[in-house]
Amino acid sequence: MSDDAQGDQAERKMRFLFALRSKGVTDARTLSAMEAVDRGRFVRGLFADRAYEDMPLPIACGQTISQPSVVGLMTQALQVGARDTVLEIGTGSGYQAAILSQLARRVYSVDRHRRLVREAEALFADLSLSNIVTIAGDGSRGLPDQAPFDRIIVTAAAEDPPGPLLAQLKIGGIMVLPVGQSDTVQSLIRVRRLETGFDYEELRPVRFVPLVEGMAND
Ligand code: SAH
Repeated sequence: MSDDAQGDQAERKMRFLFALRSKGVTDARTLSAMEAVDRGRFVRGLFADRAYEDMPLPIACGQTISQPSVVGLMTQALQVGARDTVLEIGTGSGYQAAILSQLARRVYSVDRHRRLVREAEALFADLSLSNIVTIAGDGSRGLPDQAPFDRIIVTAAAEDPPGPLLAQLKIGGIMVLPVGQSDTVQSLIRVRRLETGFDYEELRPVRFVPLVEGMAND
């Protein structure tokens, strides 16, 4: 790469990280994970040149890759530890899973579109992200065989936290997810599982594609 191209890349990265900080992503581990994962690899086609802007972008199967600042805020709210096993519902482009893979021991990521799972899997192999396990399935049921999880993140909106996911969270575990109807403003919430029940905390308004039950056809 030429000096100019390298300089451009360094400046782009600095602007990307600055935008994250200015939107409230301040956790050092989250920022270094986001610095390590190139969002440009997860956005293809028409919108590839906008990969470093703080906006959601369309991906295959009519889905979206979330806005980087929202990915950052969700990641930091999840408080992932190095020994944690994380379940992600909604693989999409694979970007959020790639960031979690820098922070956790293992990440299970589920999507109802086989094509998205296949493409994300190929990308993870190419990037040598060997601690991500991808699964084509209906994530609203969770992954009973691998449960319980230290952390669960849902990147599609349900009206309420799905019961199977609450049941698959460890005591002391944390789940971060958007809730609310898909055509209105949703709330990002954090759920902690305590010995005695669940503690719910509202974080901020967000907008996500809906969590849809059952497998997709592609
Ligand atoms: N985390 C993704 C963004 C996901 S968009 C990224 O970083 O790019 C939301 C995703 O949730 C879509 O890919 C959609 O197919 C998936 N989804 C919706 N309902 C689902 C369900 N019941 N089970 C699994 N995945 C689901």
